Amino acid sequence: MVTSTTPSFESALEEICSTTIMEAAAGVDRSGAFPARSIEALKSAGLLGALSSAEQGGLGLGLAGATRIVRRIAEECGSTAMVTAMHYSAVAVLETYAPADIRREAASGTRLATLAFSEAGTRSHFWAPAGTAQANGDAVVLNAHKSWITSASEASLYIWSSKPLGTEGLSTLWLVPRSTPGIQVKGPFEGMGFRGNDSSPVVGENVTVPRNAMLGADGQGFDIMMGTVLPVFQILNAACSVGLMTGGLRRAIAHVGQTRHSDTGASLADLPTIRNYVARMQVKTDMAAALLVDTVAAVEAKRPDTMLRVLECKAAAGETVNEVLDLAMRVCGGAAFRKDLGIERLFRDARAAGVMAPTTDVIYDFIGKAVCGQPLF
Ligand SMILES: Cc1cc2nc3c(=O)[nH]c(=O)nc-3n(C[C@H](O)[C@H](O)[C@H](O)COP(=O)(O)OP(=O)(O)OC[C@H]3O[C@@H](n4cnc5c(N)ncnc54)[C@H](O)[C@@H]3O)c2cc1C
Repeated sequence: MVTSTTPSFESALEEICSTTIMEAAAGVDRSGAFPARSIEALKSAGLLGALSSAEQGGLGLGLAGATRIVRRIAEECGSTAMVTAMHYSAVAVLETYAPADIRREAASGTRLATLAFSEAGTRSHFWAPAGTAQANGDAVVLNAHKSWITSASEASLYIWSSKPLGTEGLSTLWLVPRSTPGIQVKGPFEGMGFRGNDSSPVVGENVTVPRNAMLGADGQGFDIMMGTVLPVFQILNAACSVGLMTGGLRRAIAHVGQTRHSDTGASLADLPTIRNYVARMQVKTDMAAALLVDTVAAVEAKRPDTMLRVLECKAAAGETVNEVLDLAMRVCGGAAFRKDLGIERLFRDARAAGVMAPTTDVIYDFIGKAVCGQPLF
């Protein structure tokens, strides 16, 4: 178990990634099963508490530490990385707005958390939920059709968005335990990539929560989404993409170095064409990683360009990861088409970043508006 005083969480992370997570990854992808053993290993080592404060039993590693963890996990298993990223994204909200007992349980990993934002009606426009909240005495009744919730049937805490209860504004956030009557997970999830994510639709029908389940103030949901969730989610999503690129690059380099044509005796890496593609993969991966590192630095230093960087890093990594994994498929030839190399799995996982909201198209729209001096909304 790593603690906040452990000099480095890196050795525990490396141990888990190179054993449990690596060994489980192909099976998780094949079966579409939730990566339960991998998440349990991260929990046992205390790593699910990376973003939680030391005061609540977390590691207090901040964004830089959480980024490092998601990035390394993604080299081995995209599903485990995304489940972890969604937990940390939810923890960012809990750390500011939830009571101490919940924060402690999220820090220890006893309670896995996730975001329940996207809805069937408003789709990727998560900032404008159609789901409702209605007062009923001291309680509040929530109704919504959530279209995707990662860890839907495994997380015990949802950060749930709705229209405001009784005020102006776009949304209000709620802490909704998955066990609340009226929550129905419409699984199982059968995705192209991130197949172990358990990213199922969830219907909430007359879900009754106490009024103090509200996170922040009524109508403050939009501000929390943009100010608290967005930086963490964007950065960790980009970290996942950079990890997938690094994993693809590593596997491709290993394959081209050890695979030979018997007629010439040369390895694939002896071909200038192959080396050229590998070099492009390296450059693109390093570009995305450098932007990611700079974005974390911008957030931590509260730099004036923080929001631009936050928007850019996910779009850049989300586009680049497809280019890098496409090149990995190319340099490894027919061998990559089979499952043994693990490259086609990362290639499929890579497709999700661009459609996870805010989608890459929406981010480009935001960035274009921002740099042209126009309001984002
Ligand atoms: C693996 C995975 C896990 C997920 N996990 C979660 C989760 O845990 N919690 C959660 O809340 N959501 C989650 N989502 C949902 C995700 O955040 C998006 O809401 C969802 O993928 C959007 O898909 P859609 O078909 O509804 O997109 P649509 O909104 O139908 O978009 C379709 C296309 O139109 C484009 N488009 C839409 N609006 C605009 C616009 N205004 N300007 C320009 N282009 C636009 C999009 O870029 C996209 O190309 C997950 C999604 C995936 C794939």
